[in-house]
Amino acid sequence: MKRIYNFNPGPATLPLEVLKEAQAEFLDFNDTGMSILEISHRAKAYERVHNQAKADILNLMDLDDDYEVLFIQGGASLQFAMIPLNFATKERPGSYVISGVFSSNAYREAAILEVAKIAASTKEENFRRVPRQDEIRIHPNAAYLHVCYNNTIYGTEFHYIPDSGNVPLFADMSSDMLSRPLDFSRFSLIYAGVQKNLGPAGVVIVVARRSLLEKSPEILPTMLRYETFYKKNSLYNTPPAFSIYMVGKVAAWIKNNGGLEEMARRNSIKAKLLYDAIDSSDGFYRGHAEPDSRSFMNVTFRLPNDELEKKFVAEALEHDLSGVKGHRSVGGMRASIYNAMPIEGAAALADFMNRFRKANR
Ligand SMILES: *Cc1c(COP(=O)(O)O)cnc(C)c1O
Repeated sequence: MKRIYNFNPGPATLPLEVLKEAQAEFLDFNDTGMSILEISHRAKAYERVHNQAKADILNLMDLDDDYEVLFIQGGASLQFAMIPLNFATKERPGSYVISGVFSSNAYREAAILEVAKIAASTKEENFRRVPRQDEIRIHPNAAYLHVCYNNTIYGTEFHYIPDSGNVPLFADMSSDMLSRPLDFSRFSLIYAGVQKNLGPAGVVIVVARRSLLEKSPEILPTMLRYETFYKKNSLYNTPPAFSIYMVGKVAAWIKNNGGLEEMARRNSIKAKLLYDAIDSSDGFYRGHAEPDSRSFMNVTFRLPNDELEKKFVAEALEHDLSGVKGHRSVGGMRASIYNAMPIEGAAALADFMNRFRKANR
């Protein structure tokens, strides 16, 4: 067996220990004589997995009983629609910070419903940074302020929690959830498609204040109501049991590896290795993000020309460094260094970057 360093943005690398654990119990889960893929979502053995994953997530986020964890399908993309459907009206619109592709998509879904207002945008600057606090203008009757905390495609991240006053703060944390400690109690609703930093594709974690989940507008169909997921413990219909089981394993792995403080320590070491390789390259590598908005999860950079970029991707792969090609809307390279990427992986890429620069300048 050969494992390589996987810098894909999502689905993304998972901790090897977690994959091995899942493999070991795959054919006979907890003495049921069945795999987790085969057992009923109403079985006690599954219920324990489901509730433990929820408890571990809240615990890692240091949130109390005012918050509830939901598991929903349809990707983060469905949350872009569920949020305005459940919370916004024409009189009380959603206020949106536009800082990249996914925040634009979130805004667009609310705009389809005619309940969207823009609070700030850095589009004019090709999303090289997230807006500063003093640039965010929240609509006076806003139902919520929506931000995308880590912009996966452009490689920028918020390094401050926006002050939204009395307006509830909502965040898409698909690509940086549980990557570092934050005062999560300042947010009213956080969601993340787990396939970036927390598990395989198939489920979205929504962590929200209970008070927001108790009642959804009568007009909404059952599966679009947060109330349904809240009142039925996310078991109204068949949940994506395998994805939730894997998320539970990743949450336990984070806990056993020193929690969010330790994730933050490792993630900042990895990010520094790569940003140092960019900053010490005399302009050979050009980072896309402005320094104070740089993401600790997705490092984006360009090379002097297209030809060198193609060569970089190909040679990186020969060195077992995979998935470094950037998104087509930014071009260049993107190295995703989520929780599960070992420090050695980032060090190997930084090393490769230095050698490649010397050989090709
Ligand atoms: C990947 C991503 C999404 C889209 O997630 P899907 O689960 O594919 O719908 C949304 N927001 C962010 C920040 C992402 O990185």
